[in-house]
Amino acid sequence: MSKEKQFVTEITPQSEDFSRWYIDVIKKAELMDYSPVRGCIVFRPEGYELWENIQRDLDRRFKETGHRNAYFPLFIPESFFQKEKEHVEGFNPELPWVTEAAGEKLEERLAIRPTSETMIGHMYAKWIQSYRDLPVLINQWANVVRWEKRTLPFLRTSEFLWQEGHTAHETEEEARKETMQMLEIYRDFVEDFLAIPVIVGQKTPSEKFAGAVDTFSIEAMMKDGRAVQAGTSHYLGTNFAIAFDIKFLDRENTLQFAHTTSWGVSTRLIGAMIMVHGDDRGLALPPKVAPTQVIMIPIGPPKSREQVIGRVDELYAELKKAGVRVRVDDRSDVSPGWKFNEYEMRGVPLRLELGPRDMENGVVVLVSRISGEKRVVAQDNLVEEVERMLQEIHQDMFEKAKAFREDNFRSLDTLDEMKAFVEEKRGFVEAGWCGSDACEKQVKEETGATSRNIPFEASSKKEKCLVCGDPAAHTVVFARAY
Ligand code: AMP
Repeated sequence: MSKEKQFVTEITPQSEDFSRWYIDVIKKAELMDYSPVRGCIVFRPEGYELWENIQRDLDRRFKETGHRNAYFPLFIPESFFQKEKEHVEGFNPELPWVTEAAGEKLEERLAIRPTSETMIGHMYAKWIQSYRDLPVLINQWANVVRWEKRTLPFLRTSEFLWQEGHTAHETEEEARKETMQMLEIYRDFVEDFLAIPVIVGQKTPSEKFAGAVDTFSIEAMMKDGRAVQAGTSHYLGTNFAIAFDIKFLDRENTLQFAHTTSWGVSTRLIGAMIMVHGDDRGLALPPKVAPTQVIMIPIGPPKSREQVIGRVDELYAELKKAGVRVRVDDRSDVSPGWKFNEYEMRGVPLRLELGPRDMENGVVVLVSRISGEKRVVAQDNLVEEVERMLQEIHQDMFEKAKAFREDNFRSLDTLDEMKAFVEEKRGFVEAGWCGSDACEKQVKEETGATSRNIPFEASSKKEKCLVCGDPAAHTVVFARAY
């Protein structure tokens, strides 16, 4: 068996075992490794750089909309969690506690933060006195811990990295506007940067954030038809303001509770991106997030090597100067074929090949990771051609993901239809729902699917609940989820 063959067949095909495929790919591409602590992963440089690129672009968007970064403590006193009843009930089962430090038992246990509404509520109560102090628009980049029973690298880990935005406002209207603005920033980011199409909508009461009035989410479909909640934005009403006493004197000099919001995305986005775009050859990274956007591979016989490499280096400098993330692999101990497979597996969006004949003709060959399309382009226009092709690759990836979602999406009327669909193949089902917890629960028990959200733009308006047949209060998207 040739070296190339051996290499590719190490990844389990998606159709054989999707979960196995996922683990094979993330390990082989050196994105992560398991750690000695259950449910916690190590982000290796290739994986961490994906997060850094996500961070950079999101951070820019947050700042453009007036938010600033701050940092709050990792430890939260137990008494803080008792203040908001729903919040404590929702998070208590997942909290790890610090009970002892420096050999002494602590007077009050400290939770390791699962999210920072409580700590931030406490601080905002100190900072906010008057309507002049509002709005407060703060974001934090941090790690959080939720002791998850079921874990999967990136998608659900016990410790994960994220950002959490926390804002406080004078009025409900303003806070709701902020909640929607951040949801839209997430939608645009996930579609425009990660090339993942999402369904935007509101969570049903049973799926909303513990302590929120309303939770909104963006939901994406993975290549096995399952859903990933890719981001959430919460309108918290005055729940946390009442619990933590965030009060201010309004313009009429009366004391009011502030209206607060919170919103977050996590390193889960990395897992989603892999499951949406990857294939049997390995990772496929959208160009905007890829640590290496273009891999340059010199080819041809040893006698022309030096000359070819010289030209590759010149073109490398041009691309680099234009801001393209580019690398050269001029190793002579591995074949070009081996390198082609290697960088395809690692998901590099664009490959540039240059051989002696291309040198003579003043061209290079560009190859798309996604479509396999080969394009011979003039060296004189290289920057322009590369930028155009990267943009096309992004579009290609987005369209492919969207077409896949459409193929695996059904608008159905009854639970029996839904059962038949999810048993035969996995996917998303849009259906009517009366609004009762009981019907939502029955869907879950009989199909394993949970309500993902009530989409803002449903494909059709449903008249009846898929379970009880009563008039539908909402049209809901259901799916089995990670
Ligand atoms: P939440 O605070 O529950 O609204 O979650 C905020 C964001 O973190 C959402 O985008 C979730 O999908 C994501 N998230 C929640 N739990 C985990 C976890 N255990 N691992 C990774 N991401 C998570």
